[in-house]
Amino acid sequence: MHQPTAIAHRSLYYDYRVHPYVSPPEKLGPGARHRVVIVGAGPIGLATALDLARYGIASVVLESELQVVEGSRAIVFTRRSMEILQQIGVAASVTAKGLPWRYGNSFYRGQRVFRMEAPHPQDDRFGPLINLQQQYLEGFCVAQIERDPLIDLRWGSHVTGIVHNGDGHATLSVDTPDGGYRIDSEWVIATDGARSGLRQKLGLKMQGDAYEGRFVIADIRIKLDLPTERLAFFDPTWNPGNTVLMHREPDDMWRIDYQLPPGEAPEQALQIDSLTARINAQLEMIGAGGTPWELDWYSVYSARAMTLPDYVCERVIFAGDAAHMLPIFGVRGANTGLQDGHNLAWKLAFVLRGWGSPRLLDTYSEERVAAAREIVDEAGKSTRFMTPPSRGFRLLRDATLSLSLQHEFVRPLFHWRTSRPHEYLSSSLNHSSAAGAHNAPGLSDGAPAPNVYLGPDDYLFDHLGASFYLFYYTAEPELPQALRDAIAEIEQDGFPFEVVAIVPAGRRAAPPVLGAAQTLSDEDGRFAALYGFAPEGAQAYLVRPDQHTSANWRTDTRKISAASLKAALHSALGMAHGARSR
Ligand SMILES: Cc1cc2nc3c(=O)[nH]c(=O)nc-3n(C[C@H](O)[C@H](O)[C@H](O)COP(=O)(O)OP(=O)(O)OC[C@H]3O[C@@H](n4cnc5c(N)ncnc54)[C@H](O)[C@@H]3O)c2cc1C
Repeated sequence: MHQPTAIAHRSLYYDYRVHPYVSPPEKLGPGARHRVVIVGAGPIGLATALDLARYGIASVVLESELQVVEGSRAIVFTRRSMEILQQIGVAASVTAKGLPWRYGNSFYRGQRVFRMEAPHPQDDRFGPLINLQQQYLEGFCVAQIERDPLIDLRWGSHVTGIVHNGDGHATLSVDTPDGGYRIDSEWVIATDGARSGLRQKLGLKMQGDAYEGRFVIADIRIKLDLPTERLAFFDPTWNPGNTVLMHREPDDMWRIDYQLPPGEAPEQALQIDSLTARINAQLEMIGAGGTPWELDWYSVYSARAMTLPDYVCERVIFAGDAAHMLPIFGVRGANTGLQDGHNLAWKLAFVLRGWGSPRLLDTYSEERVAAAREIVDEAGKSTRFMTPPSRGFRLLRDATLSLSLQHEFVRPLFHWRTSRPHEYLSSSLNHSSAAGAHNAPGLSDGAPAPNVYLGPDDYLFDHLGASFYLFYYTAEPELPQALRDAIAEIEQDGFPFEVVAIVPAGRRAAPPVLGAAQTLSDEDGRFAALYGFAPEGAQAYLVRPDQHTSANWRTDTRKISAASLKAALHSALGMAHGARSR
């Protein structure tokens, strides 16, 4: 029988809550078949459940443990993650607790050789990066789930097996503190983490690299009078040839990551005397020697950059660390997983609601595997710089470091390639024939739609929800009749779709555009600049529920016909190439 610990994890800063195990209805006899069961309540499973609920899709979330994650995991979240968290209703909690930042500093032998500034344009509601311990993020998601009757989060429920039934569903075996049961579901989302039992049971293999360099991760509580910025020390005097990273976290916590000399065993490195001596040496080096500190957590980490080649295996869909393992340099793991969940949620919901083709799930895999492969490639570069895997790489890295002391031109090589949203430029959901001209200013199909500042505490993304949108730029008081007719027809299909009319500068007093669900005023021309809208004539973008564009009409207003809008939507719903049933 599965017996998860019911003793609250110890932490210097996080007040762990032990959730009760509640015996499920399936224990009394075979239960109803569920539409979605999510295995694993890490950040990605929790966020995906919340995202699905926005489309009215109920889910059961099975989690082995009775508490959120123990110890030190993700601490840096990107702007794109914040935009996704805004959609699922937890961004405000993250903003209230987290520490925003935008500068990264690289030091070589005690001298600062590069200072990176992550841009923060006025059009973005969220800063480029925010530090928050993963426990808090999971806790905020759990609190949001507790307010959502569509999500049945079952603590203490350990999945031990899976059987695919031929008739379009899967059966999971679940072990709990009061014995086992089986649960049937049309779809299973595997967010059971890097060691995914489901991935192993289905015999699926990841592709990619594992790197040899090992890091100790130590979280300490200490009062340091330093701003929230990333600090990277290459070849510091106390750890010659190796790398050390420091990050401030909320609650006066600091993460210190230091690379171990080659050949040092993890057990040796985790001896308390060794940890203490090295943390003291690091504090000494930054001028904080003698400042009292307490140790909260320590572990050893080594980087892997790997992905499954396909994220859908019959009725099981993989997301997050279960689908890919990414090095922590560049803050990619959870940030990439949140984009998986956001891409998957609308597609699975549209398939289940009968609004889109099952082929949408193929495109989930195509788009997100392509994203992971790009990230694996980029993460490989960062990892080879942080922990050179061979003599040649070390030589190259050290040459860059030593040249950077004298020469400005080498310094940008330190850029640490932070996680960013993937552009689905070759997605089969894009409707290329709707593209006015590929060379016209503006966004390519598949690009992430940029946020836009509309006024004090008012941004474009605040107006978006679980829906397709037509961003329609027009100076006219009403949408053309043919377009209004097409919208009425589309509405009959029942899926969420809205027209957002954007009225150019100088038309502020214009009444709401007739036929549009929302009218936004582009008073400062910011919308026009970001989306490449020309001052005259109507132009438009079709935007998917995950805020990626999928079609555009930028150059010729006459092309925004009812037929071309319907064709673009047909394509975005995965219907253009014939349904392939899974
Ligand atoms: C030291 C460290 C630092 C990191 N820093 C960052 C960072 O700054 N930014 C970033 O984006 N990422 C970072 N990451 C990566 C990040 O922590 C992971 O990418 C993230 O936790 C993945 O979330 P997940 O939900 O996919 O999986 P997990 O968080 O691993 O969650 C999986 C869940 O599934 C449950 N589970 C497992 N098996 C079963 C089963 N059989 N039945 C039921 N439940 C099960 C587990 O108990 C767990 O709750 C870091 C990772 C480490 C180790």
